[in-house]
Amino acid sequence: MKRVFLDPGHGGSDPGAVGHGLKEKDVVLDIALQIRHILDKEYENVEIQMSRTTDISKSLRQRTNEANAWNANYFISIHCNAFNGKAKGYEDFIFSGLSDSSQSAKYRNIMHREISNGIALQNRGKKKANFHVLRETSMPAFLSENGFIDNHSDAALMKQASWRKKIAQNHVNGIAKALQLKKRTNGNQKSDSLYKVIAGSFQSKEKALNRISFLKTHGIEAFIETITLSGAKWHRVQSGAFSNRKNAEAHLKRIEKIGIDAFIIVLS
Ligand SMILES: [Zn+2]
Repeated sequence: MKRVFLDPGHGGSDPGAVGHGLKEKDVVLDIALQIRHILDKEYENVEIQMSRTTDISKSLRQRTNEANAWNANYFISIHCNAFNGKAKGYEDFIFSGLSDSSQSAKYRNIMHREISNGIALQNRGKKKANFHVLRETSMPAFLSENGFIDNHSDAALMKQASWRKKIAQNHVNGIAKALQLKKRTNGNQKSDSLYKVIAGSFQSKEKALNRISFLKTHGIEAFIETITLSGAKWHRVQSGAFSNRKNAEAHLKRIEKIGIDAFIIVLS
């Protein structure tokens, strides 16, 4: 099993770069979630963890600590650039303290070739920098800057769902080649379903928030999803979404163990 840690930059109170009605935190989260989805669906010997899957604030230190504690095989940070409105294009980084024969550099050569392929962005090349997430990670680490959000033509691309999907697919192609991932065969295909674990549904928001606090005291993360059923507003406490039913069931058991009635809903 290879462990891939995906780090969509910024989030929560930190929007990252902004321009042309876009926020970097939203663009990179969308790309990272798609990378996870494609990797999980198409490759069998890979596990994925993300520094965030929603719009939350997280320090750089938390991000690298999590990846180090998990013993990831590869750390991939996804960003968009901004400068003076005129600068544009794609570039990527490894830590400035590394030689060109390091594992990070070798992986990066593959990532750079795959990601820059056919994405309609000018290629600004392979770079090195002393960024926290590249320096403080104990495994090979890579950071992509997928266009300039303050540049008119780059931002126009970022607004296209098909372009974000292409960027995600190209990251996947690079990761699969670098880590020599095995493609799923026909008999071992994953379904496209998503299994959401729901730990309670409340009309009162306060009750939903109480449920989230209770889960948190047991180390279980959850958030509120608001839905409308027959004209009434409900606050659904969602704890985890899985593409594998077994993982969803294991998570459900964890929640039931602390005395909460939970259930799974399937989206396909
Ligand atoms: Zn950034």
